[in-house]
Amino acid sequence: MSQAPEISLADVQRPNPAASRARALIALFGFGCALPIALAQQTPAPKTAAAPAAPDKPLAGLDTTSMDLTADPCQDMYQFACGHFAQNHPIPSDQPNIDPLYILYNRNTQELSGILEKAAAGGATRSPDEQKIGDYYKACMDTAAIEAGGLTPLKPLLDQIDALATGPTEKQKLSTLLGVLQRDGVDVFFGYGEQQDLKDATKQIAEVGQGGLGMPEKDYYLRTGAKDQKLRDEYVAHVARMLTLAGSPSAQANKDAHAIMAMETALAKASLGVVDMRDPEKTYHLVPVAKLEASVPDIDLGAFEDAIHSPHVGEINDSTPDYWAGMVGQIGSNDMQTIKAYLRYHLLTAVASRLPKRLDDENFNFYGRILDGQPEQRARWKRCSSAVNGALGEALGKVYVEQYFAGDSKARMLQMVHDIEDAMDRDIDQLDWMSPATKIKAKEKLHAVANKIGYPDKWRDYTKLIVKPDDALGDELRANAFENDRQLAKIGKPVDHLEWGMTPPTVNAYYDSSMNDINFPAGILQPPLFDRSEDAAVNYGHIGAIIGHELTHGFDDEGRKFNAKGNLDDWWTPDDLKQFEARTDCEVKEYGDFVAVDDVHLNGKLTLGENTADNGGLLLAYLAYMQRAKDDRIDLAAKKDGFTGPQRFYIAFAQNWCQVARPENVRSQVLQDPHSPDKFRVEGVIVNQPGFADAFSCKKGSPMVPVNSCRVW
Ligand SMILES: [Zn+2]
Repeated sequence: MSQAPEISLADVQRPNPAASRARALIALFGFGCALPIALAQQTPAPKTAAAPAAPDKPLAGLDTTSMDLTADPCQDMYQFACGHFAQNHPIPSDQPNIDPLYILYNRNTQELSGILEKAAAGGATRSPDEQKIGDYYKACMDTAAIEAGGLTPLKPLLDQIDALATGPTEKQKLSTLLGVLQRDGVDVFFGYGEQQDLKDATKQIAEVGQGGLGMPEKDYYLRTGAKDQKLRDEYVAHVARMLTLAGSPSAQANKDAHAIMAMETALAKASLGVVDMRDPEKTYHLVPVAKLEASVPDIDLGAFEDAIHSPHVGEINDSTPDYWAGMVGQIGSNDMQTIKAYLRYHLLTAVASRLPKRLDDENFNFYGRILDGQPEQRARWKRCSSAVNGALGEALGKVYVEQYFAGDSKARMLQMVHDIEDAMDRDIDQLDWMSPATKIKAKEKLHAVANKIGYPDKWRDYTKLIVKPDDALGDELRANAFENDRQLAKIGKPVDHLEWGMTPPTVNAYYDSSMNDINFPAGILQPPLFDRSEDAAVNYGHIGAIIGHELTHGFDDEGRKFNAKGNLDDWWTPDDLKQFEARTDCEVKEYGDFVAVDDVHLNGKLTLGENTADNGGLLLAYLAYMQRAKDDRIDLAAKKDGFTGPQRFYIAFAQNWCQVARPENVRSQVLQDPHSPDKFRVEGVIVNQPGFADAFSCKKGSPMVPVNSCRVW
């Protein structure tokens, strides 16, 4: 998922910016999809609801209860595969949407909470990792202690903000404070992190760029229209309420909220939009640090680096050079009252889930209810399970994989990955539009892709992270700082190719263009996506299409710019590039014609990489399945559940993306997420699949088999 944070959000708050901003991860799905924001029971449940004694049953590999058998797959494949999904799966009141990935995620959270309840109750015999995950969970669950503590645990940081005064001597103080806040996970004014040098992936360098917005991205501040204006009014009211709840007199809080809105609007104007942020050429500007310093005269970079625990660097990727003039203008022109209120608000929202209920609720009201249409906050045990996965995911993951990813899971998954890589290899040979010279380079890249499956070979060491069973806020700040320090300590060091960008329990997957690897955490290698009791048709349709998706990311409009070594490098002949772009233009137009909600069309450019990966991924999975059937002498015509092998393959694929979503959620997804809403991940893809007409005996020219279709890969 672009340069944006693609690691699933575990809570309504935003993730630690330093921990996630600079990785070049492209995930399977993002903000608007099932996982990120919120969770709870399948049905409305009281907020004190405890975790169930046993996890829910998974969906069947081929879920016949979701199918509408009265629909004609040649007319409408989504309706055929998913037509009854909605009636069987109402959106839980604490969810913005529901789909099979959410159902898997929900079950996964139940499994994690089972592990955590046990670790929290355990005594002196716990291993150091069990102590940490158990105590982190216990503190997070202790809402009585959080309530009693009020804002006291935040006082040291609030005092530092209050101590800012006006005048030239404040430059160093402000720079230090920004470093302290960012290290603790608070997104203010800009972001600073580590990344592999886009043009030399063997190097780990510092990166700095735009940040500090409270609404999801630039255009939320700038779009005209009644709905957008209303959202901005609601944001201002929310900021004012947060400040009031934290002790400001309401008249002052109101004034501050309006001033914060004006300031963030100016920052938004200076920022790159979501489409530009996907373009590595627009976000790579390696410069001597003196050049950056000249752009930000209000920031003492050395003081900032000390505070955020970064080495003093000689060069840096200035990812958004056009941003600084706007930011410096705002720091210089706003009075200190506004700057302080801005810092205070962002601190409060970053840690709201560890603050008293009134602040936690208000934060959810804006980021959950208003932005995503979600009626209720998730149950506490679910939020705390996700929080432990975010803070100590490899300690939790070690226990998780022992219980839920055993046996030959890894070996079987590897075979599918190799089948799909082989299918791509053969397919490149057959492309009629690519020259032999570019084919050689494409294959070089394909053969260099590293496959990471389930969990890391080398586990992360959390020894130095202090976790206390009675300090929820402190635990979170320390975990954020610990992760920040781990990231920044990599600057100047060799790359660790064994490192993972997602934790093992995560229900997601990603491609990393600098590492040139595809990654499938154990959390997603579970039924129904990966089911050891199912046949090849169903597994290649489910997880096979996802493997193909991640692999194709290496060759989409963004991934194609990186070579086998993970370096930004133009390996395409001009003619081949022209051919490639004619093909991607076809997809930009195809998806841009879809209307997601009201009058909001999909953004064909924003979603191009994901759509390319969906289309290419399914084709590769199909080719791999056909070859596997041949090698293993599988009878394709034999029926199971009433369907042939190829039919089961396509139904399983479509059922990855059965969804019911609240309109607010669809809207917010389309405006900011590079992934198309689920329904279009079926409709947009099926029409381009050469194997589909055969599988269901569809006539050329029927809606699912149009005369003109698109194909990139
Ligand atoms: Zn993707």
